[in-house]
Amino acid sequence: MNFKKQGLKNKATNGINSKNKWKSRTDFKKRNSKHKISSIMEIKKYNSKYKSILNNANNRLKNANRRFKNNSFKHTKWSISILAVLMISFLLVFKFGEGRNLKEAMNFTKIQISRLEETESLKRDKLFSIVSKISTRKISDPLEVYDKIAYITIDDGPSQYTSQLLDILDKNNVKATFFMIGPNMKTYKDEVKKISDSGNSLGLHSMTHEVKSLYKTEKSTLEEFDTCNDILKEICGYKTRLIRIPYGSKPYMSESIYNSLVQNNYAIWDWNVDTEDWKSNTTQIVSSVKVAGSDKKKLIVLIHEKKQSVKALDDIISVLKSNGYKILPIKESYEPQNFWNNNI
Ligand SMILES: [Zn+2]
Repeated sequence: MNFKKQGLKNKATNGINSKNKWKSRTDFKKRNSKHKISSIMEIKKYNSKYKSILNNANNRLKNANRRFKNNSFKHTKWSISILAVLMISFLLVFKFGEGRNLKEAMNFTKIQISRLEETESLKRDKLFSIVSKISTRKISDPLEVYDKIAYITIDDGPSQYTSQLLDILDKNNVKATFFMIGPNMKTYKDEVKKISDSGNSLGLHSMTHEVKSLYKTEKSTLEEFDTCNDILKEICGYKTRLIRIPYGSKPYMSESIYNSLVQNNYAIWDWNVDTEDWKSNTTQIVSSVKVAGSDKKKLIVLIHEKKQSVKALDDIISVLKSNGYKILPIKESYEPQNFWNNNI
């Protein structure tokens, strides 16, 4: 019974429960649908919210992108500008740098070359000096040592210009040969001494410098040079073999006079560069040396003790040096260069 009652009771309870169940299901459904609705609403709400957020985000992204693009364009512009400036600077620096280096290199090379030339020249000078001192056979031609030589010969002095000429020679560290006229030697004795003391060479250039009296006879020519030599000995204490014939050893002087002078141990020196300085200005004098003195191995330059020649001497020396000539004074041992010997 209890079981039946219990069963009925259970049934009744179940019935109530099932009613409640239904109720609760309906509620649930209702609640669920309400919930669903509210969820949908909420989702929609959120969706719209998200959409706006998304839109905002998109917009921000777009803006950011635009800004980034703008910025990157700006950066690119800056980068290109900086790169261009750097490249130009580099090119400029490189170009000018290279130019400067090239100039420096050229200057350096020039200095080295001039030093080498100087060394070579000094070596030859030393050799020349040693050979001159110790050789039993005296040097008859400096071309044995030097490639190109030049003798600067200065005629008709001494004079008021002698000291200036000596100063210019000294300043340029070169020596010349002075062919002097007897009466001038007497007038300018101190100048004769100066020439001798300075290591320049002395030669004789007659007493009268007159064609008619000088080349009258063999004797008259010889006497003029002997008298000159006496004056030299009186002033300097020695005589010399070196002579220059006024107007040249040809055509005024005869062969017999030439032979007479040679037999009396005179060494006759003519020239192969006539600057014609007695009738020229300084520019013309220098120009004549330039024209004549480039290809010949041996130059004998003729100038006189004249104002314009004094002015020209510095440039004459420069021209000779730049053309590679070793400027030397004439020595008594050198083989005489004259029109009779046909060796100039
Ligand atoms: Zn003369």
